[in-house]
Amino acid sequence: MGKKLIVQKFGGSSVANVERIQNVAKRVVSYRKKKHDLVVVVSALGDTTDELIELAAKINQHPAEREMDMLLSTGEQISVALLAMAIHKLGFEAISFTGAQVGIITDSSHTRARIIKINADKIKEAIKNGKIVIVAGFQGVTLNQDITTLGRGGSDLTAVALAKELKADECEIYTDVKGIYTTDPRIEPNAKKIDEITYDEMLEMASLGAQVMQGRSIEVAKKFDVPIHVRSSFEKDTGTMIIKEVKKMEEVVVSAITLNRGESKITICDVPDHPGVAAKIFKELAGNGVSVDMIVQNVGHLRQTDISFTVNKTASPKTLKITKKVAKKIGAGQVLEDADIARVSIVGVGMKSHPGVAAKMFEVLAINKINIEMISTSDISISCIIQKRFAETAVKSLHDKFGLGK
Ligand code: ASP
Ligand code: MG
Repeated sequence: MGKKLIVQKFGGSSVANVERIQNVAKRVVSYRKKKHDLVVVVSALGDTTDELIELAAKINQHPAEREMDMLLSTGEQISVALLAMAIHKLGFEAISFTGAQVGIITDSSHTRARIIKINADKIKEAIKNGKIVIVAGFQGVTLNQDITTLGRGGSDLTAVALAKELKADECEIYTDVKGIYTTDPRIEPNAKKIDEITYDEMLEMASLGAQVMQGRSIEVAKKFDVPIHVRSSFEKDTGTMIIKEVKKMEEVVVSAITLNRGESKITICDVPDHPGVAAKIFKELAGNGVSVDMIVQNVGHLRQTDISFTVNKTASPKTLKITKKVAKKIGAGQVLEDADIARVSIVGVGMKSHPGVAAKMFEVLAINKINIEMISTSDISISCIIQKRFAETAVKSLHDKFGLGK
């Protein structure tokens, strides 16, 4: 095996304490011993980012986004320095950099900045000088020298973008699970690790609530065709490859089942049924920064209709307030919230060419006497909103019915 350039990203749980940082250092060094060039991206230690967000809230309930970025970027700066020290301790050369130092240039949308370009000269030079290069994930800098962050989970994006820019041979995302599973193994012990999955399926899973990788990072990987290897930082086994196309003898129709218990359902009753009403409601919500997910409008009866939609639970107090105001304005009835819902989804590119998948899903829910409250579909997924208490039964029976178990 020849010499490769490998980008490795270690998430917060992989560097949560001294012992784990030392473990990562050993792992990185084991690749170095095989003569590979390494660019290592790290997240903040454990729950540091969440803790910094809480800390800020104690000082100011509405902190300026520029200052939030200034604050949050410090988490990753701690990790890179400590990892470099741990590698030095093992007798190997390493150098740490912030995002700004390695020229990750972003726009100025603080807390969710987009990467415009990367001037990777500094990284290339350090590699040439025989160093293991360690880069702070999740951060960049504007042309005005303001520090930015790339949205939660943004270290994945740093890794993928660097892999693309450096034309790396491999991009490895190290995490605390063995890879991508057919469903959450904590719910279904029979869940299987998936060997290969497509970018599209992974994107769909990320948007449906699977939390293994940041959605934006997969978009970039797809755009530039950067194959990603998601694997455990605690084990040697290979994990899951995220790639363009999976070639199998027999097409798999459904690849995974996802579950999201983080949403609330809001219903506006007795909405006047005439043109422009839905536009008014959702424009008002969008204008206030609320991003609505699934929307269902019932059949109009007596020139009135009910409209339901889902939002992230964290946004539901704000959403309720705005929705109640609009409801009054347009002459609608009550606004109700149901926080005890869950979204269960089936995902698979094979759905495109196989009829009857939706029917099979609904049948499984029906047999288990689970009522479907809302349905939405995309090219490669079908989602149902059900009552939360049935969530685990739904996941398990769908996992079984679509033959995903071991
Ligand atoms: N530390 C940041 C976060 O928790 C970035 C990352 O972990 O990728 O969102
Ligand atoms: Mg993190």
